[in-house]
Amino acid sequence: MRRMAITGVLLLFVFGLVSTEAEDEPLQGFTRASSATERDWEAKFRALPSPDNQREYMRRLSARPHHVGSAYDKENAEWILSKFKEWGWDAKIETFDVLFPTPKDRLLEMVAPTRFTAKLQEPPLAVDPTSNQQSEQLPSYNAYSIDGDVTAPLVFVNYGLPGDYERLDRLGVSVKGAIVIAKYGHSWRGIKPKVAAEHGAIGCLIYSDPADDGYTLDNVFPQGPMRPSDGVQRGSVLDFSSTSPGDPLTPGVGATREAKRLAIKDAPNLTKIPVLPISYGDAQPLLAALDGPMAPKEWRGALPISYHVGPGKTKVHLKVDFNWDMKEIHDVIARIPGAQSPDEWVIRGNHHDAWVNGAQDPTSGQVALLEEARALGELMKQGWRPKRTILYCAWDAEEPMLLGSTEWAEEHDKELAQHAVAYINSDNNGRGYLEVQGSQSLEHLVNDVARDIPDPETKLTVWRRSQLRQIELARTEDDRKELRQRADLRIEALGSGSDYTAFLDHLGIASMDVRYGGEGDAGIYHSAYDDFYWYTHFADTDFVYGRALSQTAGTAVLRLADADLLPFEFTDLADTIHLYQKQLKKLADDEREESIERNKEIEEGLFTATDDPRHPNVPPPHMDVPPYLNFAPLDNAAGALTHSAERYRAALQKAWPAGVSAATLADLNRKLMESERRLTTPEGLLRRPWYKHMIYAPGVYSGYGVKTLPGIREAIEERRWAEADSEILRVANVLSAESALIDAASAELEQSGR
Ligand SMILES: [Zn+2]
Repeated sequence: MRRMAITGVLLLFVFGLVSTEAEDEPLQGFTRASSATERDWEAKFRALPSPDNQREYMRRLSARPHHVGSAYDKENAEWILSKFKEWGWDAKIETFDVLFPTPKDRLLEMVAPTRFTAKLQEPPLAVDPTSNQQSEQLPSYNAYSIDGDVTAPLVFVNYGLPGDYERLDRLGVSVKGAIVIAKYGHSWRGIKPKVAAEHGAIGCLIYSDPADDGYTLDNVFPQGPMRPSDGVQRGSVLDFSSTSPGDPLTPGVGATREAKRLAIKDAPNLTKIPVLPISYGDAQPLLAALDGPMAPKEWRGALPISYHVGPGKTKVHLKVDFNWDMKEIHDVIARIPGAQSPDEWVIRGNHHDAWVNGAQDPTSGQVALLEEARALGELMKQGWRPKRTILYCAWDAEEPMLLGSTEWAEEHDKELAQHAVAYINSDNNGRGYLEVQGSQSLEHLVNDVARDIPDPETKLTVWRRSQLRQIELARTEDDRKELRQRADLRIEALGSGSDYTAFLDHLGIASMDVRYGGEGDAGIYHSAYDDFYWYTHFADTDFVYGRALSQTAGTAVLRLADADLLPFEFTDLADTIHLYQKQLKKLADDEREESIERNKEIEEGLFTATDDPRHPNVPPPHMDVPPYLNFAPLDNAAGALTHSAERYRAALQKAWPAGVSAATLADLNRKLMESERRLTTPEGLLRRPWYKHMIYAPGVYSGYGVKTLPGIREAIEERRWAEADSEILRVANVLSAESALIDAASAELEQSGR
């Protein structure tokens, strides 16, 4: 590309094919000379990842079930280790000992009005060669459900979210003493048993409705990619969002052999009631037997039945018993030492454990990571050395709830706080559009990277394709205008659900998660059918998006590892804080207006006047009207951050690179590494102190879904008004500390630029 004639370059620029507008400009954080060298290495790097290699790695890694504690999980870790060594990395396995329950006994039967026993099996399929490895497969279950044996009436609770229970109240239906059945989706799965238990339920079933990932979307496996009637979504229900992820017996410290452990009965994050996931084949007879009120329209799925809520004569018996065993887990940690700044670490990770064969989750991400590692090894042979140290990590035990990465991060917390520059995660991959979530300080960097990656299907840059996709999906004229005019595409904030969580939320390390997706649906998530046959028939079948993922994540690693000055940027962060600030004010206003309106409707008798006596509804309760909150400290701090971010940009433009001495550069890099840590507090979020980051956290009642400025947002959502005011002050304080750090960096630049 770089040797192309000028006219060709211009033409390509017009059509958005390659990123040429910046070819003359040095890369952010590089001098003109170092930028040219970097571009050469990056071009060599991006030519190396091979789709065929990724296919062969996947064939090997997904050949047998490889869940935590299985023989093949360990064999895979050792195979990955041998690959890193073969490619010239300094690599080792770090082990931890964790609590990992597996099923001993599972029984689900309907005992009234008729009898039915659930199958709880995913049968082998003749065309799918690994689906018959049943002796090695983990049965379908939810990890960290407590043991239980309960018989009770059944109630259908939609997705099992707090709002669904408000609706049940209006229908006059209580789940007290009942077993609930909830659909998968619209929240992390562990929210469902948590909220059910809070409402007095004594058991919880979770099933995959065909409307969500079954025949409503496409043909079911093996004719198509969607969930067949016996397919079950396994998954962890460890209540990580209100406590912490990782090994439940060693919160906050690495689960080494000698670590102090809680007794199992004292682990704070096991479920309160027994939980079992089931297929829609098993769910249908139970749901069909329910009577009571019809389920609200938006609750109904795609089964050929009338969806009722219950309860009625339908009673079910649920029994689950687990082996509460300790398992050894194996993180593969590989390293290329930095040539100039070995104490600054750029970290990249993807897990290797799966629920069953896990071709898509996690192997499609893992094989991209492996091809990056092979390519970086190749660059070393050609004479390249990174300035900073690069760490590549293949995590074990992500599926039970981020155990491998969390235990490693907790064990190495002091070193990481000192040395970590950034963490780049992936977890799985598909075809389509670049999807990035991450720290806004990395937003500009990843936009730059995306302008250098060709999309395999359109040959546009992945940046341009993503921009056009977002314009297509935008709902308002303002959104479309911003997408067309803003220099950088926004990246979404990180919630949880993958291995970046300990790095970002616990240690304050700038993080991002990258993958491709958006073309083609999948209905095999966490089932025995997520395997090589499925992936090579229905997903990224020629692994060209696997190559794109290697190119994207690998280029970001290279740039962070090689830059003279770390390519962090703060105007995107400041801009995003303003966005959150506006959202929170609107949230508080909406809460107030809704309360006033609700109370008015109760007073004027609306609910009794519009009630259908044959389908009676209970009027909702009166609501306290929220007070006005004092957002002024947040407004002031956000304004100051914008000012500081712009000052840094201007100072950098003026001084860089001629006016920056080596000593100043080293000091600036220290400050930039510190910048994400400044967004944390040592005491962390209220009631969940493991979470230290004040800008991003998983939601207590959404799980994987992010809550930005979580202290304030959740206080408003859960109507704790005094707490909202005091959290505004805490957030304002971290933003002020961030501004002070950026100002100190700017002052140094202004000094040296003189
Ligand atoms: Zn995964």
